[in-house]
Order: sequence, then structure tokens, then C-alpha cells
Amino acid sequence: MIKVVLVGGGHVHLHFIKQLSNNRLDGLEVILISPSLYQYYSGMFSGYAEGLYEEEDIRLDLQKLSKKATVTFIEDAVVKIHPNENYVTLKGEETVNYDIISFDIGSETLGSEKSDIMSHAQFIKPNNRFTQTIEHVRSASKPVIVGGGIAGIELSFSIHAWRNNRKIQSPITLVTASRLLESEDKKTSEKLFEKFKKTNINLLTNSKVDSINHRAIHFNNGKELSYEKILWLTGPKSSNLFKRSELETDDKGFLMVTNSLQSMDYENIFAAGDCATLIDYPNLPKNGVYAIKQAPILYKNVLRYIKREPFEYFKPQNRFLSILSLGNRRALLLYGGMSLSGKFPWRLKNYIDKKYIDSFK
Ligand SMILES: Cc1cc2nc3c(=O)[nH]c(=O)nc-3n(C[C@H](O)[C@H](O)[C@H](O)COP(=O)(O)OP(=O)(O)OC[C@H]3O[C@@H](n4cnc5c(N)ncnc54)[C@H](O)[C@@H]3O)c2cc1C
Repeated sequence: MIKVVLVGGGHVHLHFIKQLSNNRLDGLEVILISPSLYQYYSGMFSGYAEGLYEEEDIRLDLQKLSKKATVTFIEDAVVKIHPNENYVTLKGEETVNYDIISFDIGSETLGSEKSDIMSHAQFIKPNNRFTQTIEHVRSASKPVIVGGGIAGIELSFSIHAWRNNRKIQSPITLVTASRLLESEDKKTSEKLFEKFKKTNINLLTNSKVDSINHRAIHFNNGKELSYEKILWLTGPKSSNLFKRSELETDDKGFLMVTNSLQSMDYENIFAAGDCATLIDYPNLPKNGVYAIKQAPILYKNVLRYIKREPFEYFKPQNRFLSILSLGNRRALLLYGGMSLSGKFPWRLKNYIDKKYIDSFK
């Protein structure tokens, strides 16, 4: 019996488990380790924050899915990998041995390493915290969202729409250290800026947070902003797991992998999604689109490793579709240099997201 351990229930391992439930494989024992029974889908976070979806709509029951695929589910987190001895240590201090191991543990939030941010701000990662965090933030009298990427922008518009529908007058604030959506061109930033101007969201661009105390956020330019709740969404940071386990990582601690999604040092360690950095594409953004594209390749390569067959290699696509919710069932669609905003992009997003999550149920 070959023992395959899947660590984390992200996009890549959801695909792995789905393949197993469609097609049982003899001679394989599969274990899924996740700190939460539920995996929450970030594509639907904005809809939940706006009140369009219920909690059950945006999450998957990992234990149920594992059972259907004859996978053993362990509710725990891996805290150390022992790659020479082929076992991992769990937070609960137990150990689990493996022949092959795969990591799809996502990322943490940049800034969570700083003590003032950690004590005063709220985070949505691990993703099973999402609904609770949103409930705290969206009803606060002075909510401040920090981070001008996809997550910060979508959640600002969604929380704003939720408050408007409940006639909550006080504005929310979005703070970003640069322009809006720096990963895209200036034209897109400007387009988003115009969308913000049509709301009463208080937008502070080029405002870098220096420190936070119990009363206010202090900026590098000497200004300060009082708050009741802060939602911190400043981009991905690696877990310490790979560095702690002395595996080869990039300078940020993400596991370095080949295009076959294997660790540089150990052929029996696979990884994909946010937690991995590809040696040939080190600057690839950490996003769900790439995790979803890597998922079938990781599944096939684990089986090919067992059968000693040639691997398939991941090559990122040049363009991908991105749809940002703007609240009130409107969205901004971005593809290549093209953009389109309005009701149709939101309907398309809703269709794609529901189809995606329902495909696992
Ligand atoms: C509001 C929001 C909107 C977004 N919108 C988009 C979008 O429109 N398009 C897009 O492409 N991306 C988007 N993203 C980014 C996207 O969510 C991530 O890139 C994606 O979820 C990464 O998927 P993953 O499979 O790597 O990991 P995840 O989906 O993060 O799953 C990782 C899982 O591993 C578990 N885990 C963590 N540590 C351990 C451990 N030590 N042991 C065991 N399990 C562990 C976690 O609890 C989690 O359940 C958005 C993110 C946010 C927050």
C-alpha cells in the first residue's frame, strides 16, 4: 500500500479528492490533514460579505468529501516536516508517516508577523475565520480596510453595499500604500478610483501604515486615523513550515518547486497553489486561478511518480480572467488589456463561482 498524505484542503487537493471519488485507485492509502473541517472559497467571499450568500454556500465539508473518496480525514495542522525520515509532526503532537506528501496550505497575511498589527487588526486567514471576521468588521461604527489589492477592493465595495442596505450611515475607509490594484495597469486603477468616488467610501491611497495602537492607525506621513475595527488584507505571506523544516524555499519562505510541482530536494514532496513558488516563474502572483490550473497536473504527477512515468509540466497562461465584485450585483471584468464593468460581469462571476463550488458537492 502506498501512503499519500495531502496537507491542506485548498483548490489543488479538492481536485485530488474529487478525482479519487470518481475513480478509486487500488493500492493507495490517502490521508487529508486540515486544521478545519471546512474549506471556504474566496471567490465567494465578497458575495458573503454583501449578504448575497449564506455560510453553507461558500464552504465545503472536507470530512464529508474525504469519506466519499475513501480518504482518511485528520483535523489538525502540520507543524514540521521530516523529509529524510518521511514523516510529519502535527500541532496535536502526533506524527504521520508517508511515501508521498503534497502541500496545498495556501498563505498567511503579510503584516501578521508584527505585534501591533496582530493585536489590533482582524484577519481572514486561516480562511475558516472568514465569516466571523466579516461579521465583526461590517457592523462596526468605523471599519477600516487595509490593502488595495483584489481582496481589499472587493471587500470594501461589498461591506459598503451591506451597510447601505441596512441604512448604516457612517462610511468605511480603504487604506492602501500605493495606488489601487497595483498589479494591473494605471488605467484600471483609475477606473476603480472613479467607482470609489461614486460611493461614500473614504479612500486613502499612497498611505503606508507605520503602526497601530488601541486608538488609531499611524501613517508614515505623520497622519493618523481612528478606527473601531481594522480588516487587514495586505497580500500573501508564507507559513514558516518549510523554513522550519529546512526545505529549499524562496526568500519569502514559500516552498521552491519544479515545473512538475515537486520540491527541489525531495522527489516525493509535491506542492502547489499559494504555498509554492515555481523555480522558472518566481514572480507568478499567488492567486486562485493558478492553483486551479496546477491542480490536475499535481494529481497526474503524483500518479506518474508512483508508476515511474514521465511528468507533466506546468506552464502559466499569459492572460487570465479576473472579475472583481463592485457591490450591488455589479462587477469589473479584466482580461488581458480589456475591461468591462456592470451587471453582466457580476452574473458571470456568480455563475462561475457557483459552478466551481457545486462541482465538489
Ligand atoms: C477576498 C479574496 C478574494 C480573492 N479573489 C481572488 C480572485 O478573484 N481570483 C484569484 O485567482 N484569487 C483570488 N484570491 C486569492 C485566492 O484566495 C488564493 O490565491 C487561493 O485561495 C489559494 O489557494 P490555495 O489552494 O493555494 O490555498 P487555500 O485556498 O488558501 O487553502 C489552503 C488550506 O490549507 C490549510 N492549511 C494552512 N496551513 C496548514 C497546515 N500547516 N497544515 C494543514 N493545513 C493547513 C488552510 O487552513 C486552508 O484551508 C482572493 C483572496 C481573497 C482573500
